[in-house]
Amino acid sequence: CGIVGYIGGKAAAPILVEGLKKLEYRGYDSAGVAVMESGKIEVRKAKGKLAVLEGRLSCCNFGAQIGIGHTRWATHGKPSDENSHPHQDCQGDFAVVHNGIIENFQSLKEDLIAKGRTFKSETDTEVLAHLVETFYEGDLEAAVHKVVAAIEGSYAMAFLCRHEPEKIVAVRKDSPLVVGLGDGEYFLASDIPAILAHTRRTFILNDGEMAVLTAEGAVIKTAESGEVIAKEVFEVKWD
Ligand code: GLU
Repeated sequence: CGIVGYIGGKAAAPILVEGLKKLEYRGYDSAGVAVMESGKIEVRKAKGKLAVLEGRLSCCNFGAQIGIGHTRWATHGKPSDENSHPHQDCQGDFAVVHNGIIENFQSLKEDLIAKGRTFKSETDTEVLAHLVETFYEGDLEAAVHKVVAAIEGSYAMAFLCRHEPEKIVAVRKDSPLVVGLGDGEYFLASDIPAILAHTRRTFILNDGEMAVLTAEGAVIKTAESGEVIAKEVFEVKWD
């Protein structure tokens, strides 16, 4: 299972798929991407190999320069198109990819259903999409802090928000996540091989850290409250 993300000056979708291919060794049963263009989020996902996803992308001429991608190893809900990531809120204003397990998803799901949210999948992950939408008051980072406070379990996850079309927000706890620092382009991945074709300069996230990626840079903050962390660049020396 794996996560990738891209923001920069190039078309995101092919970069995301190439990155996911480099993470295939981690195992997966389905894959998907979300890209954002003109303030609209487009999601393509499919059960099965990355080739199936690529088939669904080949018809689309995405120019989008920001996106997130995922390979899933199902823990909650069978492998299927619907259960594949990214997941979205009811309006499609947010997209999220997640590796790990949200232990308290059942009670969160019941609360969200009571608040009128409808679920499309059987995954634990889908609560993250509805939670971030419920908490959102014009600031994606603030909403993600609240998501982190509400959930228990393990996660590497990344969010897109239609209202903040030039930003990826990602956090981790007990699941790996690295940031790649390019020249005017920034990458997110579960592991270094997914970004090595683009850059050797990385931030290795620790538990409880949040990465905020824009075309201007990558800033690491605390996942709880958003205090900026003076993160050291890790230069990858191996191939
Ligand atoms: N628990 C999530 C699911 O079943 C994520 C699994 C993964 O790490 O890929 O969809």
